[in-house]
Order: sequence, then C-alpha cells, then structure tokens
Amino acid sequence: NEKEARSSFCFYNEDINKQIKDSLLLESDIRNALEKKEFFLTYQPKLNMATAEIEGVEALIRWQHPEHGIVSPINFIPAAEASGLILPLSEWVLDEACRQAKLWHTQGYKITTAVNISAGHFNNGKLLEDIDKTLKKYNLPAECLEIEITENMMMQNMDVIIPMLKALKARKVCISIDDFGTGYSSFAYLKSLPVDTLKIDRSFIKDLHHHKDDIHIVQAITNMAHKMGLKVVAEGVEEQEHCQQLCSIGCDVVQGYYISRPEKADNIQGLLDVAYIS
Ligand code: C2E
Ligand code: CA
Ligand code: CA
Ligand code: CA
Repeated sequence: NEKEARSSFCFYNEDINKQIKDSLLLESDIRNALEKKEFFLTYQPKLNMATAEIEGVEALIRWQHPEHGIVSPINFIPAAEASGLILPLSEWVLDEACRQAKLWHTQGYKITTAVNISAGHFNNGKLLEDIDKTLKKYNLPAECLEIEITENMMMQNMDVIIPMLKALKARKVCISIDDFGTGYSSFAYLKSLPVDTLKIDRSFIKDLHHHKDDIHIVQAITNMAHKMGLKVVAEGVEEQEHCQQLCSIGCDVVQGYYISRPEKADNIQGLLDVAYIS
C-alpha cells in the first residue's frame, strides 16, 4: 500500500515536472516565434442573413511552427496567458488585424474586423492605450474594429471591465460577448453592459437540427437579445440546415465552416466581393 502510494506520488510528480518543462519550453518558443514572425492571422467571415452580405470577419491566430506545422491557438494561448507573453502576442494580433482592416477599408469594403481579447490584455490596463495607438497608427476608423470578450471574462472582472467597455464604446469600437451561453451572466447584468452583439456558442448550434432544446435556447437568447437592442451571431454554423433554422429563429448573423473556414486575407477576398455585388 505504501509502495503504491509512493509510486503514484512519483508518477504525479513526474507529470507535474513534465508540465512545467513543457510550458517553459513553450514560453521560450513563443518568444522566439514572435521574433521570427511565425504567427499569422486567418479571417473567418460573418454573414448577415437579412442582407446576404459579409458584414465582418473574425481574426484567428495561427502559428506556422518550423517543426509542428500550423499550430492551433488552443495549444499556445493558454501558455501565453500563463506566462505573460500574452501581452506582446495580443498586441501583435491587434496591430496586424488593424493593418489588414485598413487595407479593406481603403478598398471600400464596409466590414468590421474582430479581434479576440484575452484576459491578460484586458486586465493589465494597457488595452485602451494599445487600441488608441493602433487605430491612430493605421488611421483606421474605430467602427471598423470589433473586440470579442468571452462571457466568462466579462463576468469575472465586472468592476474593471465595465468602465473599459464604456471607454471603448465612447470611441465607437464594436463590442461582442463571445461564447455566450456557456458562462453565468445574468440577463440583468447584460442590461448594464455597453455591448452590441451576442455570439451564441457553437455548443448550442452544432446539433441544432436534432435537438429541440437547443432550438428553444437559441430562440430564447435571440428574443432576449433583440429586446435589448443587441445583434445575435451564431458561431460554428456547419450545415445548411443550421442556417435555415437560425434564419427562422431570427438570428441576424451566421459564422462557421458552412460559410467559410478561417482563411488568410487574400483567400476571403472573393467572398467579400460576392457580398459586395449582391
Ligand atoms: P473562439 O473565439 O470561440 O473562435 C471560434 C473557433 O471556432 C475558432 O477556432 C474557429 O476556427 C472555430 N470554428 C469556426 N467555425 C467553426 C465551425 O463551423 N465548426 C467548428 N467545429 N469550429 C469552427 P480556432 O481558430 O482554433 O480558435 C480557438 C480559440 O482560440 C478561439 O475561440 C479563441 O478563444 C482563441 N483565439 C484564436 N485567435 C486568438 C487571438 O488572436 N487572441 C486570443 N486571445 N485568442 C485567440
Ligand atoms: Ca471569438
Ligand atoms: Ca466564440
Ligand atoms: Ca466557442
């Protein structure tokens, strides 16, 4: 028994050591990758169902790793958050997204470019300064920039976040609550938040055509959001049936593989053009 306890202790210990080693490795890797410019942004279009136009895109980061190929953000954002490297990384994302947004703006596309803001960037107080600096650097109208904050982030730091959101709103930056429905926000709080859009989490969308409950949830969120003057975006829309359901529910905007996978800017130009002609 004692032997068992010891061996499981050892196993536990090794496991932790490996985790620490991995995260340290990753940390120096991320630092390196920033210097070597191995990160790039992909953009996923958001389709407005009423106008049949692409009204915006979401910037999603990728890592072109020399050995591992293209690495998903779910494999390095948490490590970046834990290590403080999230700040330079997040600043790079903001800069690169605004640079591209300015190009689209100059070409005449009326779209917003959304950036995912991590807790680390929000909480350190530099976000506002960074946004002001970057909008100015590219001479980009604030209305062209959108920020996505997860419902959980929003609820965990209401005291810090509400004044920040108000300041962003005053600049006309668009604000979305991401992954809506997975956290614990009460509708009463939502009323006091200066947000424009709710993005309903993919978990409610993916089985929409098989699960009556999901339809009811999405319907309820949509009705409530509309009563509060908020726009509703459904994320993770993979099938035509999803689009039809969401359309009859009254959801405003759809985003997902059915419309387009996240792609490099050049590869979604066609979709933006189609939207423009129609
Ligand atoms: P998210 O903000 O909820 O982004 C949506 C994720 O769903 C993206 O994964 C996107 O590629 C994926 N997706 C879009 N449509 C579909 C679909 O139809 N089906 C399925 N199965 N998936 C779909 P991705 O790009 O791997 O990003 C994962 C998460 O990493 C994001 O979740 C976001 O939280 C974070 N992330 C991505 N880019 C950034 C960034 O630049 N900064 C920060 N802080 N976080 C980021
Ligand atoms: Ca997002
Ligand atoms: Ca999301
Ligand atoms: Ca999600």
